[in-house]
Amino acid sequence: MMAALAAARNGATTILVERYGFLGGMATSALVGPLASVRHRYGGGRLVGGIPWEMIQRMERNGGALLHPIDYHKARLELHTPATDSDLPVGKGDVPFDPEVLKWIADQMMVEAGVHLRYHSFAADIAKDGDRIAAIIVESKSGRQALTGAVIVDATGDADIAAHAGVPYEVGRRGDGALQPMSLIFRLGGVDTDALGDIARPYIHPPARKLAREFVASGRLPVFGGPWTCWGSTFRRGEVFVNMVRLWGDGTDVETLTGNEVTGRQHVQQFVSFLRENLPEFAECYLLDSGPQIGVRETRRIDGEYRLTAEDIRASLRFDDGVALGGHIIDIHSPVGMFSQVREKVAPYQIPYRCLLPRGVANLLVAGRAISATHEAHASLRVMGTGMVIGQAAGTAAALAAQRDGNPRGVDIGALRSTLIEQGAIIDQGIVE
Ligand SMILES: Cc1cc2nc3c(=O)[nH]c(=O)nc-3n(C[C@H](O)[C@H](O)[C@H](O)COP(=O)(O)OP(=O)(O)OC[C@H]3O[C@@H](n4cnc5c(N)ncnc54)[C@H](O)[C@@H]3O)c2cc1C
Repeated sequence: MMAALAAARNGATTILVERYGFLGGMATSALVGPLASVRHRYGGGRLVGGIPWEMIQRMERNGGALLHPIDYHKARLELHTPATDSDLPVGKGDVPFDPEVLKWIADQMMVEAGVHLRYHSFAADIAKDGDRIAAIIVESKSGRQALTGAVIVDATGDADIAAHAGVPYEVGRRGDGALQPMSLIFRLGGVDTDALGDIARPYIHPPARKLAREFVASGRLPVFGGPWTCWGSTFRRGEVFVNMVRLWGDGTDVETLTGNEVTGRQHVQQFVSFLRENLPEFAECYLLDSGPQIGVRETRRIDGEYRLTAEDIRASLRFDDGVALGGHIIDIHSPVGMFSQVREKVAPYQIPYRCLLPRGVANLLVAGRAISATHEAHASLRVMGTGMVIGQAAGTAAALAAQRDGNPRGVDIGALRSTLIEQGAIIDQGIVE
């Protein structure tokens, strides 16, 4: 979304190819929320500016986002049991939103910017000409078609285009290649959210979590993962998103995806019964929906001109070609087990433009979670606030490259950075509001 808007607003004729009939990625297709790392959780200021911030503000004006920082940690302590080390505060800096408002605002912004939308189109392959991508092959109800462009931005989350073009990539963690689990997020209605506390706040429900663990240990629940039990990001009375399902495997393998959807829906039914039967606030709850697809946390990460590491992030490094800011915790849901999760606090850090430049293909940029980073660095930058600001940088660079020779490597970094700053992006340090 952000790459397309940035490219179009900077003068490029832009086509956006999307497999579904709506935009938003995991935010709408997997009911993932809230938007994390919009503000740094620990006082590093707002990290998201430019087009994503404009979209978030527009969602808020239309009743579809909650912008005001709330001290969730304090709220949670008031509501529930004392925090432990594994219970870092969640929510401060995150923006709960309504996925339906996001879809609608995204459509509007695309139309206003003159982006040519191609929904229901799956990018299935590419055609190459030397070291350049000559065309993207898309498949849809209209058949198989080739779309050409001077510069391509791969924002598939899975680096699909880069992989088809032969860009080298890494999968999962070093050593065994194990990936963070997938989760089928579901939404409940009929929950007594007044009894749970302020529904505007994301929260963990410690009694539910404790009980779920006991049920898993005694074989009465299939799996249950992470620290999250319920996630109140819908901010509507009576509704909660629940993130309890954990299923492992490769999110680029169609058999694995299919199996996980089937098993995930079965687990959702079991979780709904579990909540209904064991927790008074959920006694009257019912399943509203689950995401159109299972949420996928991690797949391919490209091998780019620079690979961002956890050490870079911990050192809060600055780069001459820094184009975006991240600041989410290093957040690794265990690739192998049910309950463990690495959650390491970091200061705001910069993401260099070189991470967006895949090796071996001249006219391709990668945006979102698939940029060049280690498993640990990815675990921080994978969140949606950071993905959106990377997207604006990629789209701006694509437009600048298209004005010259279609080579993103040749983009003048000074011009890219100054264009981003002029257009509201926050790339050097967070804005304390
Ligand atoms: C269960 C779960 C919980 C999470 N919790 C949070 C959270 O609380 N806060 C947070 O900020 N982040 C969270 N994340 C992380 C975040 O949602 C993702 O990392 C982020 O959305 C990745 O953004 P992206 O743009 O790279 O990819 P995506 O959001 O996956 O977007 C990719 C887009 O490309 C489209 N696409 C993909 N392949 C093709 C193709 N071949 N042809 C055409 N279109 C294609 C997709 O339909 C989609 O619209 C969570 C993720 C999961 C799975």
